[in-house]
Amino acid sequence: MMDLKTDTSIDAMHAAGQVVGRALTAVRKAAGVGVSLLELDEVARDVLREAGASSPFLGYRPSFAPTPFPGVICASVNDAIVHGIPTRHRLCDGDLVSVDCGAELDGWVGDSAISFVVGRPRQADQRLIETAERALAAGIEAARVGNRVGDIAHAVGRVCRTAGYGIPAGFGGHGVGRRMHEEPDVPNEGRPGRGVPLRHGMVLAIEPMLIGSGKDAYYEADDGWTLRTSDGSRAAHAEHTVAVTDDGPRILTAREAS
Ligand code: MG
Ligand code: MG
Repeated sequence: MMDLKTDTSIDAMHAAGQVVGRALTAVRKAAGVGVSLLELDEVARDVLREAGASSPFLGYRPSFAPTPFPGVICASVNDAIVHGIPTRHRLCDGDLVSVDCGAELDGWVGDSAISFVVGRPRQADQRLIETAERALAAGIEAARVGNRVGDIAHAVGRVCRTAGYGIPAGFGGHGVGRRMHEEPDVPNEGRPGRGVPLRHGMVLAIEPMLIGSGKDAYYEADDGWTLRTSDGSRAAHAEHTVAVTDDGPRILTAREAS
C-alpha cells in the first residue's frame, strides 16, 4: 500500500534531505586526485554525525547482498554504476565518481546522489554526467499530481536514450519515507500514462543511471555489491528525493550552491 506523507512529515523529510545535500557537497569538495574513497566516506560520516543523523546505508543488507554495507556512501568509480563500496582505492586524474548518500533524521530518510570528475575531465564524461542531470530534471518535472509513475520513467528514459546511453534494467528509483526503499518502484524507462497515479504526499527517489557506451549490460562484481558495466564503459548516476505535492514537485535533497 502506498504511504502518503503529511505536509509536516514532508518538512521533516526535507530536514533529513538537507543533511544528505550537505554531505554530498562536502564529499565533492573533499574529492580530488589521491584522495581515497574511505576518506570520502569519513567526510560524509562527519556531516551526518554533526547533524545527529544516522546512515540508512551503513549495515544495510538486502537479500542480494552477501555482507552488510560497510559505508555511509556508495562510491562508484568509472565503470562502476552504483553500489560501490568505499575502499582504500585512491582517485586518479580524470576518474568519474558517483557518490550516493542517505541520512536518517528523526526517523525520516533522505537519499541523493551526484556524479563528478576529479582532475581533468574527458569531454565524453562531462556529457554523460550532464545527461544524467538532465534525465533527473526531466523525471522531477514529471513528478506531478495527475501523472503516473510511468510518466516519470518515460521522461527519464527518453533523455537517456535520445542521448544514446544505456540504462541498466532492474535498478532505479523508489518510494522513500521511514524506510529507504518503499513502494512504488520508479524505473528509469517506461511507458507514459502507466503505473501508479501520483498523489500529493508521495515521496520518491528518482535516480537515472546511465551507461556511456549505449549498451545496457552490467554485472555484479566479486564483492557482491558493486554493479559494473559489462563492456567497461563509464557510468553516471544522479538522484534526488522528491515530494509530489499539489504545488508541484518539491526537491527534498536540494543542495545549496557551492
Ligand atoms: Mg541513493
Ligand atoms: Mg535511491
